[in-house]
Amino acid sequence: MRGRFAPSPTGVLHLGNLRTALLAWLYARSAGSSFLVRVEDLDVGRVRPGFAEQQLADMAAIGLDWDGEVVWQSARTSLYAEALSRLDVYECFCTRAEVAEAASAAHGPVGAYPGTCRALTDEDRARRRAEGRVPALRVAASGETVAFVDRVLGEQSGFVDDFVVRRNDGAFAYNLAVVVDDGAQGVEEVVRGADLVDSTPRQIWLGRALGLSELSYAHVPLVLGADGRRLAKRHGDVTLREVSPENAVAWMAASLGLAGSSPRDMLAGFDPARVSREPTTYP
Ligand code: GLU
Repeated sequence: MRGRFAPSPTGVLHLGNLRTALLAWLYARSAGSSFLVRVEDLDVGRVRPGFAEQQLADMAAIGLDWDGEVVWQSARTSLYAEALSRLDVYECFCTRAEVAEAASAAHGPVGAYPGTCRALTDEDRARRRAEGRVPALRVAASGETVAFVDRVLGEQSGFVDDFVVRRNDGAFAYNLAVVVDDGAQGVEEVVRGADLVDSTPRQIWLGRALGLSELSYAHVPLVLGADGRRLAKRHGDVTLREVSPENAVAWMAASLGLAGSSPRDMLAGFDPARVSREPTTYP
């Protein structure tokens, strides 16, 4: 089950992110599989120079290793363009506020885009362009509910609306890039934080639309701070800048009920079927 970890270099990895990386590594390595790392640096508005290198160094510092060269999404835009050319897409001129309003007025599934721009005529589009609006591209999805079984969370499903595959700033959207890369890199199992489970039905749908093989999924519970909110920088000392790699690994092992002072030591006791569904708190 070839696995991967795909951080976005928008900040320093905190212990929650590192624990997810460790779990992704444990799932892959315990199955004797390869483990890849991909830098998801497409969002130029949020990516900061140096963070990717820091993230890779922090992963290495806690004892994670990976196979082959690290892949950078910013160097792969021709792959995303090629995939996009095979999809049935349409231009969407809606602002965020308009999408939210249209979604609530349509009484459809919560937050789902109701297809406002799907039926625009050429004149409608020309008028919006003349107003200075720049379109995003959305897939004309089937509007079906996609169900899947998650190795940690169990049965999951979600409605697939017409979601964005290229943003109006020209960037290829996260969902498109992830699906194209997982397919191109031969990833078989996606292990990532439970905060991303809502994107999975869209990604499964897109994988099918692009003729890719179906992946297996494990969304691992998040780490919360003492206030019960998702662990973040504002919680203070939560990165390897403040916590030593040894202490970080010791805390991760304890939180997973595993023994050992390195990821390799933890392999012997790791059982994917026993990963808790409950969030963990740090410290
Ligand atoms: N790059 C995404 C993030 O850091 C995760 C991508 C994925 O695991 O699918 O939130």
